Amino acid sequence: MKLSMWTYEGPPHIGAMRVVTGMKDVHYVLHAPQGDTYADLLFTMIERLKSRPPVSYTTFQARDLGRDTAELFKNAVREAYERFQPKAMIVGASCTAELIQDDPGGLAEAVDLPIPVIPLELPAYQKKENWGASETLYHLVRALCLNVETGKRKIGCKPTCNILGPTALGFRNKDDVKEISKLLDQLGIEVNVVAPLGASVDNLRAIPNADFNIVLYPEIGRLTAEWLKKRFGQDYNRKIPYGVLSTREFIEEVCGLANIQVKRKEVQAFESKSNDSVWYSSSVDSNYLTNKRVYLFGDATHVMNAVRVAKDEFAFEVVGFGTYSREFAREIRQLADEMGLKALVTDDYLEVEAEIERLQPELILGSQMERHIGKRMGIGASVISAPMHVQDFPCRYSPQYGYEGANVLFDTWIHSLMMGLEEHLIHLFRDDSEFKDDAMPSHLGGSLKNEGSAAKKELILSGLQEKEREIFWDEEATLELKKIPFFVRGKAKRNTEKYAEEIGCKSISLETLYDAKAYYGN
Ligand code: SF4
Repeated sequence: MKLSMWTYEGPPHIGAMRVVTGMKDVHYVLHAPQGDTYADLLFTMIERLKSRPPVSYTTFQARDLGRDTAELFKNAVREAYERFQPKAMIVGASCTAELIQDDPGGLAEAVDLPIPVIPLELPAYQKKENWGASETLYHLVRALCLNVETGKRKIGCKPTCNILGPTALGFRNKDDVKEISKLLDQLGIEVNVVAPLGASVDNLRAIPNADFNIVLYPEIGRLTAEWLKKRFGQDYNRKIPYGVLSTREFIEEVCGLANIQVKRKEVQAFESKSNDSVWYSSSVDSNYLTNKRVYLFGDATHVMNAVRVAKDEFAFEVVGFGTYSREFAREIRQLADEMGLKALVTDDYLEVEAEIERLQPELILGSQMERHIGKRMGIGASVISAPMHVQDFPCRYSPQYGYEGANVLFDTWIHSLMMGLEEHLIHLFRDDSEFKDDAMPSHLGGSLKNEGSAAKKELILSGLQEKEREIFWDEEATLELKKIPFFVRGKAKRNTEKYAEEIGCKSISLETLYDAKAYYGN
């Protein structure tokens, strides 16, 4: 048992739902108790899809458990086929149904439908949503493509690829696909199939006809790409086109996979036409961004790539990062090792909160949950990864990938920070009524939030004091501490206390504060 108030991922059957909901003519029969239909709302309310997910639930109740739940499941399969006439079906159990062990695969086979019926084994007590989506895509593609003969590419035709990984309820997946398709078109590469988002059963059967695959979201597409590589010799990309530097490397890699020359001049012209983030981040107004302390948390792919953008494109100082994607723990730990950091791999948001409190960053890039943590601590935050709420399914075009994606990253990350001039004003005139210490960025409606934010910061600081009451700050040192700009004050306070502890000092005077400053300055 684990006490959990917030989960980063849903159970694996939600992942399966994301795959089928993205597709056109596949239906999912889910053995699940009454009430599990809540999952429909994720799609109709958060993603605002116009129709219900293609999912039939058995919705058994307590009184059904004394009767034949297996028969209930078979009827649901028959009815779903008659009503929706899908071209393929997947069947499986949700967490509760897993306990009654009805074997959805065997039961569906007994119904003997004239379409492929693919059983899913999704262990709800060990695995999570992304794993469920990855398994579902893999089993669908495997079942539909295993015996397909590959079409030979005709001489003179454009090279072709599939795009694997985007699903319904994916973080900016729809716009990423648009952006990357545009980029591929520019390179002279044709997109054969995008899957699962927007694909039909016939589209999935055509996957082996492409020359290679592009995995946009490894959490969901890599398993399938690995199988396609083994079965049909289709190679796939390792670079993710996130940020300008990675997009350039992605272009080189993809041209290699497509066996075509990179037309550098054309690509450069396309980049300067489509991207402003390179210029924006090097313009003088961005000077104040240098060495801003940033913390990142989310799914592994978005975090690992955002670390690079933060560090190499926007000149932030990455003070820590982590992921809830346990399947990618090795990769994320390796990246952290290379940077001399320790990656946090956890799905417990309390651990993430403690890490953020310890590190006191000036900006958080995370999921919806880290946005809440940032709000509580008065630290600016931007969402870079699922799980996200309805505002991260925006109306406007907002990819994260490719050149336009890099523009979006620049705007959304920087927006959460205090603007340079304001930062200076606060430093110079900290008693001013508007630009006072503890003010929120005024471009985010700061004055309205001053009271709450200041109160929260005091709470956090007093919380720290509470924990470290044995270290006493004298009046002079406290006043001097307040002169330090708020966005680095937490760090200064922690460092001074750490220093005092190290030298065995129980009270902090002005002198200790300056000694600590000199000590860490060296
Ligand atoms: S079966 Fe699983 S997803 Fe459905 S209500 Fe129970 S715990 Fe939640």
